[in-house]
Amino acid sequence: MTFDSYSTLPALEQNYSGQPVQQTPTESSQKLDYDVAIVGGGIVGLTFACALKDSGLRVAVIEAKTDSAAVSRGQAYHINLMSSRIFEGIGAWEQMQHQVNPIQQIRLSDAHHPGIVQFLPEDLNATVLGYVADHGVVLEALRECLRQCPHVAYLCPVEVVQVDYHPDRVELELGQKAETKHISAQLLVAADGTRSPIRQQAGIRADGWQYWQSCVVAFIQPEKPHQNIAYERFWESGPFAILPLPNNICRIVWTAPKAEAKAILALDDQEFLTQLKQRYGDQMGELSLIGQRHLFPVHLMHSRVYTMPRLALIGDAAHCCHPVGGQGVNLGIRDAAALAQVLKGAAAAGQDLGLLTVLRQYDRWRFLENLMILGFTDVLDRLFSNSLFPLVTLRRAGLWILQSVPPIKVFALKLMTGLLGRSPELAKSKQDR
Ligand SMILES: Cc1cc2nc3c(=O)[nH]c(=O)nc-3n(C[C@H](O)[C@H](O)[C@H](O)COP(=O)(O)OP(=O)(O)OC[C@H]3O[C@@H](n4cnc5c(N)ncnc54)[C@H](O)[C@@H]3O)c2cc1C
Repeated sequence: MTFDSYSTLPALEQNYSGQPVQQTPTESSQKLDYDVAIVGGGIVGLTFACALKDSGLRVAVIEAKTDSAAVSRGQAYHINLMSSRIFEGIGAWEQMQHQVNPIQQIRLSDAHHPGIVQFLPEDLNATVLGYVADHGVVLEALRECLRQCPHVAYLCPVEVVQVDYHPDRVELELGQKAETKHISAQLLVAADGTRSPIRQQAGIRADGWQYWQSCVVAFIQPEKPHQNIAYERFWESGPFAILPLPNNICRIVWTAPKAEAKAILALDDQEFLTQLKQRYGDQMGELSLIGQRHLFPVHLMHSRVYTMPRLALIGDAAHCCHPVGGQGVNLGIRDAAALAQVLKGAAAAGQDLGLLTVLRQYDRWRFLENLMILGFTDVLDRLFSNSLFPLVTLRRAGLWILQSVPPIKVFALKLMTGLLGRSPELAKSKQDR
């Protein structure tokens, strides 16, 4: 059964494959339909659902978009080493690994300045520095993984219309076309993206701002092989990234002030490629454009808390950052693994999953780590997106130090690859566990 084939709200006891959901609830939750209800079937929501697959908890994933609409986003991401380990831990990596591209080298540079910081896998004693994956490839692999989860029901396309919090449960009103249905759970997990209606309705305040920049995203095919190299080149107008994808395709993330980004989007294909070459350089020969260009607004947002009784926020619902460094979805994948670990521990101890004392363990684990990365991406963007002489001198000295002082280089690499901070159990290799 696919999501699109639902013409009415699916029965609550079906999983992704249309099989009956196995019922092994804890005693305290036996009256409830589910132990955990997840709103949002994006990469973060599905990773979280897969991470709970061996927990015995009854899980519902609620996604508003149809199957095909959710897959076709025209996005691709840098998937860092930590995320690839988490995907391995939940059993989704095998499904996607042949369709992702390894990063064998990262090059950072500052506009026309000749100094280049070059990161190699050897710097980390690793074989790769990360991966680049199409949004649809990751989503499909996670869905495939969900098909093996007898405890997970997939309700899609279904929207959450109303949420009511009670001391012992949360109740959701779900809508599909003219039909509505109610479900109850011990805990609601919001993985519903940066605007998060669930966060807003719960009254959780968030801090942040819109950047003066937007991102133009495009896929191109260079004449010469991309050699699995990822580039981040900092221009006064904003960072410019090239990420290597399978089949010698590259994804471009071109950040520029809003009006300039709009103008770049409006260029005809030939003029776009001419301007792109001035940023891209000629190291890969002639460039051809593949598909449509997309424009994304850029903002930074951080929720003041990630949890309240009966509710936890994960992924972009809790935080989002500037795309420089490609960290956003990676933070969310790590949130998902961390929250799953906390909940599995609580379930094993027979605790109510919606209690704040349980949920705060997740908040304490992830809040500061995420804040650090949000701050890092903000400083990086501001430091490089300007031409003030003292800052230009400072950042060029910074790049020289990064290239020349090995411990600083390794620290920066660990930050980008997600290897700093507390590692979730799921990310540990089978030998370590
Ligand atoms: C230009 C650009 C480049 C980026 N590049 C990278 C990169 O290289 N690496 C990286 O790590 N990150 C990157 N990011 C960040 C990344 O895109 C986000 O962090 C990531 O998509 C967030 O995933 P999510 O699952 O939390 O939210 P989303 O992908 O927004 O998913 C939320 C889901 O919730 C559903 N939903 C919402 N409301 C409801 C409701 N009421 N009922 C039911 N369902 C609902 C939506 O339909 C959606 O499917 C980039 C972002 C931009 C803008």
